[in-house]
Amino acid sequence: MRFVKKARYVKKIVAQARKKGKIIGFVPTMGYLHEGHLSLVRIARRKAQFTVVSLFVNPTQFGPQEDLQSYPRDLKRDKILLKKEGVDLVFYPERTEIYPEGYSTYVEVQGLSTILCGVSRPGHFRGVTTVVLKLFNIVQPDIVVFGRKDFQQAVIIKRMVEDLDLNIKIVTGKIVREKDGLAMSSRNTYLSEKERENATVLYQSLVWAKKAYSGGVRDPHWVIDKMRDMIENRGGKVDYVEAVDQKTLKPVKHLYKGTLIVLAVYFGKTRLIDNIVL
Ligand code: AMP
Repeated sequence: MRFVKKARYVKKIVAQARKKGKIIGFVPTMGYLHEGHLSLVRIARRKAQFTVVSLFVNPTQFGPQEDLQSYPRDLKRDKILLKKEGVDLVFYPERTEIYPEGYSTYVEVQGLSTILCGVSRPGHFRGVTTVVLKLFNIVQPDIVVFGRKDFQQAVIIKRMVEDLDLNIKIVTGKIVREKDGLAMSSRNTYLSEKERENATVLYQSLVWAKKAYSGGVRDPHWVIDKMRDMIENRGGKVDYVEAVDQKTLKPVKHLYKGTLIVLAVYFGKTRLIDNIVL
């Protein structure tokens, strides 16, 4: 496995692999890896013959009051985990490698970027699409794997790929959870013991919604109100709970098979997201 900090070396190494006829798979991450990330790496390994993983805490996707400084990092551990997974190349650039002085170009997927998480995190998805497009141009992958935990992100990236005619296949992997149902996240480390315990209500409320739907409930407002109550009773501060169409991310009038229930909730200062498909 190669560890590379410079984009020009990534380009060189990937070009050599492509010359040998290898399909290039790519998993972009912000590091501090957990089983969720590794499940995506395994998908990439199955679908491609040369796997690249990036580790980069992207400053442009953090708001001024957000956790850029405190975001957890452990490069040494990440490298060990990726080596075990049989990754071929790890790209861990410095901030200035991605955003050199004078950097001024941004990519924005309109509409989809200003709903759901885009409301309380203005500019977040603009930062995501900008860095992801840059990483795509550096790595030049054939297949890229994203997690469905960040469902909105995956929808936005797919839109960008289609709109900008990128020759890349986007694949999504299912949400990997802790034993008690909490979706794995690098940010779970911020939670106090009590918050961690209470945060299990997120998945419980999603599973409850799915059961209500299976039981014949079709009114999204009724389901959303109940979910809010469940979450607030456990000390969560709801940013949003919505029932939306999987493709457009627009609220649905009636629940149907395939409706996406999405939520973002604060426990203390920590903002957690999760979702389930009916
Ligand atoms: P991040 O490092 O948080 O930017 O995430 C990198 C990738 O891992 C994104 O595509 C996420 O959707 C994905 N991911 C994060 N957590 C999980 C999880 N619990 N299950 C599946 N994928 C995840």
